Amino acid sequence: MGASFEKCCGLLSLLETEHSLPRESWRELICGHTPELQSEAALRAMAVRRRYYGNRVFLRGLIEFTNFCRNNCYYCGIRAGNSKAQRYRLTESDILAAADHGYELGFRTVVLQGGEDPAFGDDNLARIVEKLKAAHPDCAVTLSCGERPFEVYRRWKDAGADRYLLRHESADPAHYAKLHPAVQILSTRLECLRMLRELHYQVGAGFMVGSPYQTVETLAEDLTFLSEFKPEMVGIGPFIPHCDTPFGHEKAGSVDLTVYLLSLIRLALPGVLLPATTALATLDPDGRRKGLFAGANVIMPNLSPPTVREKYLLYNNKAHTGLESAESYRKLIESLAGLGFEAGPDRGDHIKEMQK
Ligand code: SAH
Repeated sequence: MGASFEKCCGLLSLLETEHSLPRESWRELICGHTPELQSEAALRAMAVRRRYYGNRVFLRGLIEFTNFCRNNCYYCGIRAGNSKAQRYRLTESDILAAADHGYELGFRTVVLQGGEDPAFGDDNLARIVEKLKAAHPDCAVTLSCGERPFEVYRRWKDAGADRYLLRHESADPAHYAKLHPAVQILSTRLECLRMLRELHYQVGAGFMVGSPYQTVETLAEDLTFLSEFKPEMVGIGPFIPHCDTPFGHEKAGSVDLTVYLLSLIRLALPGVLLPATTALATLDPDGRRKGLFAGANVIMPNLSPPTVREKYLLYNNKAHTGLESAESYRKLIESLAGLGFEAGPDRGDHIKEMQK
């Protein structure tokens, strides 16, 4: 049995003022999840987001630049062991052209995401970041390409990268070990997050909601970790099975739980950059709106060249057309305006202190 609605509302108030909770209270809030509590958390999260960001929503153009990967995460469709994946690697000119196209559309952040692909070349990526920043100095560059040595992160930062997304995936070591082969361990992941912070990246952590073996305890651990590490960005989305992975027959995560957790994360980290993710939009056609109305403030449409989009398949049925594609930029802005949000050419950096 979860705690009562009244008790949970008290915990939400505490979270709003303290920005952290004891583990036991996180557990109570997760167990106490009901539609009524979800609405209450969403209202509070919306108010907090409004205080920090007004009605602004930030758009990121996502370029999936390689789907080669040396890792074997059990959940991911581009894992090395998936021999059915059609591999591709974009060239420098593909990436620069996609970014130029995004810039013309109005994006002021490009996100370069890929598998851990040593053959792409760390210096090659550094050069691309330099060229992106030279071509568009008013654009932020976010990288998301996994675990690398400090020196590599430093090279990319020196080249001009502003932000780095590296979901922690699970803050519980035993749960992390059930999602990854033995060579991938939580402490390495966390060490990478610390290195990125030391290098002054805006850092993004996060996890999948409803990943196999996730429990109330592991989720409480995730929320505790986020409230302590205080990442500038948090990416969460429902787990969605991919048929050619060891988790191909597992159940997908819950949209409602994802939306509820988005609100809790907004309350814990009021200034956080929080996307309504593609995975959420994939499971529910209304997922993006639900995410925004729960406190999310970022959307990451796909800016990869259309020919490679269907090859970057982390999970089945991944949305990459319609409003998930960058070509619909205009339509997206209009649909956001219809919901009361304003999106435009804005880098959308993290706000640390509340603006008076
Ligand atoms: N190689 C990079 C990028 C990984 S893909 C890195 O290691 O950070 C980005 C995110 O997609 C992952 O962090 C994971 O949380 C999510 N993801 C992967 N497979 C997924 C699946 N089957 N369902 C939902 N999300 C998934």
